[in-house]
Amino acid sequence: MIYGIDVGGTKIEVAVYADDLNAVDRWRRATPTDSYDAFIETLAELTAEADAKFAVEGAVGLGIPGLIDADGRSLCSNIPAANGRNVRRDLSARIGRKVTIGNDCRCFALSEATGGAGAGFRNVYGAVLGTGAAGGFVVDGVLEAGRQGIAGEYGHIQLPALMQQRYDLPLRSCGCGLPSCVEGYISGPGLMFLQQYFGGSFADAPSLATAWRAGDAAAAKTFDVYIDILGSTFATLVLLHDPDIIVLGGGVSLIDGIPERLPAAIENHLFNNAKAPVIRRAKFGDASGSRGAAILAQQALKNS
Ligand SMILES: [Zn+2]
Repeated sequence: MIYGIDVGGTKIEVAVYADDLNAVDRWRRATPTDSYDAFIETLAELTAEADAKFAVEGAVGLGIPGLIDADGRSLCSNIPAANGRNVRRDLSARIGRKVTIGNDCRCFALSEATGGAGAGFRNVYGAVLGTGAAGGFVVDGVLEAGRQGIAGEYGHIQLPALMQQRYDLPLRSCGCGLPSCVEGYISGPGLMFLQQYFGGSFADAPSLATAWRAGDAAAAKTFDVYIDILGSTFATLVLLHDPDIIVLGGGVSLIDGIPERLPAAIENHLFNNAKAPVIRRAKFGDASGSRGAAILAQQALKNS
């Protein structure tokens, strides 16, 4: 058995997987965000519950939001208690077994590349468009780690001058500290910023999308600009990595019309005859965090 634990800002979900990656059970708890001891204890309790339910000592993989630095410390702003802490080492010491850890958007990419929407492709990029914009590259089933674990962090590419000038966009400072990351334009909040900037007053992305389909001018302008910026960003990924497929996840990817228009939008930013990769929506959706974490744990087990 493998336990994939998806750690979110408000809840922690454990999913128990058989060796063939079929989920046999899953349950969740509230995330303790203030006390680090309580945070580690909750992870240990979830593991103990899974052990007791299935009478095994399963392998443990954790998917967490935010970055994990070269020393193994987690940098996740929505779980303040875990910020700067080495969750992998501390949980491993507490439960007496090896623990693997990965960024949740990278877990998404690994999950989609392994039996998901990217199955059958060698070079898979998984891109989440949700509250943020993050993802990862998977080559031949293995997540590209890079030197410091930031390969494929496309949300923090700087907004191209072409896009800024074409649409006279203001520069938006990013949570990472940089002055104009594309995340501020292509994430869910970024999409809502654009609609406001172009004169819309829609309450949320679904009502904006409905207005777009109904022919609302502000909504149409918003999506034209959004898709152009996203196409430009993915064209940069294509120039650097030339993936076979980009799998889209997160709430924004569910809006009808976005994945469909992306190939042409990407090719608008590529030189002659260069082709966009295949674009598909994710297969596993919300389960990707725990499933990807379980695959990480399974791969670590095979390599040890
Ligand atoms: Zn940034």
